[in-house]
Amino acid sequence: MDSRIVIIGGVAGGMSAATRARRLNEQAEIIVLEKSGHISFANCGLPYYIGGQIKGEQNLLLTTPERVRERFCIDARVHHEVTRIDAERHCVEGTNHQTGEAFSLAYDKLILAPGASPIVPNLAGIDGENVFVLRNVEDTQKLYGYIAARKPTRAVVVGAGFIGLEMVEALRALDIAVTVLEKAPHVLPALDSEMSGWLEAELGRHAVELRTGVGLAALEADNGRVHAVITEAGERIETELVLLSMGVRPNLELAQMAGISIGKAGGIAADEFRRTSAPDIYAVGDAAEVVHRVNGAAARIPLAGAANRHGRAAGEHAATGNARPSAAVLGTAVVRVFGLDVAVTGLSRRAAVAAGFDVDTAIVHPNDHAGYYPGAQTMHLTLIYDKSTRKVLGAQAIGPAGVDKRVDVIATLLHFGGTVDDLANLDLCYAPQFSSAKDPVHFAAFVAQNQLDGVTPGADEAPTTNTERPAPQLLDVRTANEVCRGTLDGAIHIPLDELRLRLDELDRTRPIVVFCQVGVRGHAAARILASHGFSDVRNLKGGYTQAAARRVALVSR
Ligand SMILES: Cc1cc2nc3c(=O)[nH]c(=O)nc-3n(C[C@H](O)[C@H](O)[C@H](O)COP(=O)(O)OP(=O)(O)OC[C@H]3O[C@@H](n4cnc5c(N)ncnc54)[C@H](O)[C@@H]3O)c2cc1C
Repeated sequence: MDSRIVIIGGVAGGMSAATRARRLNEQAEIIVLEKSGHISFANCGLPYYIGGQIKGEQNLLLTTPERVRERFCIDARVHHEVTRIDAERHCVEGTNHQTGEAFSLAYDKLILAPGASPIVPNLAGIDGENVFVLRNVEDTQKLYGYIAARKPTRAVVVGAGFIGLEMVEALRALDIAVTVLEKAPHVLPALDSEMSGWLEAELGRHAVELRTGVGLAALEADNGRVHAVITEAGERIETELVLLSMGVRPNLELAQMAGISIGKAGGIAADEFRRTSAPDIYAVGDAAEVVHRVNGAAARIPLAGAANRHGRAAGEHAATGNARPSAAVLGTAVVRVFGLDVAVTGLSRRAAVAAGFDVDTAIVHPNDHAGYYPGAQTMHLTLIYDKSTRKVLGAQAIGPAGVDKRVDVIATLLHFGGTVDDLANLDLCYAPQFSSAKDPVHFAAFVAQNQLDGVTPGADEAPTTNTERPAPQLLDVRTANEVCRGTLDGAIHIPLDELRLRLDELDRTRPIVVFCQVGVRGHAAARILASHGFSDVRNLKGGYTQAAARRVALVSR
């Protein structure tokens, strides 16, 4: 096939498409049109350049137009913005911003990979010289240059999603005091609320001021520079720098003008070969929508993995007329925030409930590797599953080490539609430096099985006196030393090792919610009680550790 393939957008999706197309078709003419000054830059590395971990701007560029011409015979034209697609005549039009000249280019196949743009609210002062977004190298140069020249000491980050949190860390690394505004009730809205407390505590440990459940209302600016932000709660926060990380909106304008269908989730609709509604036009990456693998719904998941894989599929199809269908997407993601890594895959508990699943969770706090081997660290892992089908729906994990591996294992299980029983049976590698013979994902699956099979039902929250009738007894089975460091209001204390001898201190007519530090001894206690005829015994999910984190999160808000 010696056709011409034109690609709009020369980064993750676009360049994956271009190089795959070339590898499979030496004859095709491949032209990439990129409106910025760079192709194949490392979006994901931008915060680390600002924070100083990545030195040298050239290290953000994975390749250049010259190199892709040499190696792949791909004609990558930077500063070329496409402004119109004529789907009927099979041509694109645009402007070369370096020369100011208009161009028009015919195509046989067109791949849309224009990405997404940061959301910028329409507020007075928003165009101030110290208000920034972070999407590309130019944005990064602007922010980097401002910090170098003005040496700001205070910043406000609006939006505590993945990019916002990475930027918080980058700004703190430069010794800039940071306040974060997040409109959602907790940071990293992709997480469920029971997991976010750990992250909020970590931000607090690094002197980050948090304002959650509150958005940006206004900016106070003078002479083109913002000097304070006003929150929706009316708080005035002085600042020398504002970073907007409020999410992204897909770049749809070209597709819409060309009459290409936009899907239910608000991205360019595309099939499993990434073909859009217009003949010979494909769409990939942040501008396009995908199918969510867990619930089969249309979704927008602006992450690099799918952009790259779908770009590859579109490039292959455009170059050869065939490709393997690209799979639905799970939204597996990971971010490091100071000393904690946070990873998610599949549906959150909230999303699973909204999607109509019969949801339950298992919460565990295992070590990343065997406790007897030096350096073991605790992680917090939530497994989300469906009670009727026993299928795993998602997972979320936080910890200083090992969470990426566990979430990737569960992502693999999700890809194949596995159940908690499949997860419990996975044969995973083990030596004490790496894991325990029962890996954290096994523990989560065992807890889920115990809950599902009625061996030890879980309790989501510690009961308060007015939540249930008859009011449950709250039983703390930890040691006296642990209780000294804190317990839950109204808890009766009977250490696990004394429980069999002190059963008559408990009221058999009332339900019991038992807890220990993380849930393991609570499970043993619940089994003892059940075996001695107590009929309604539940184990507090994640134990005191989880309850205390929830309390920290509530206090920090
Ligand atoms: C700071 C930052 C950190 C990130 N970190 C991660 C991470 O750690 N993990 C992860 O999975 N994802 C991360 N992402 C998201 C990831 O980078 C995106 O999902 C991915 O780049 C999307 O690929 P894309 O090809 O759709 O869009 P992009 O990579 O954004 O490329 C689109 C390109 O199209 C160009 N373009 C747009 N319109 C036109 C036009 N009309 N004419 C010509 N060119 C046009 C744009 O200039 C842009 O360069 C991060 C993103 C950012 C900004």
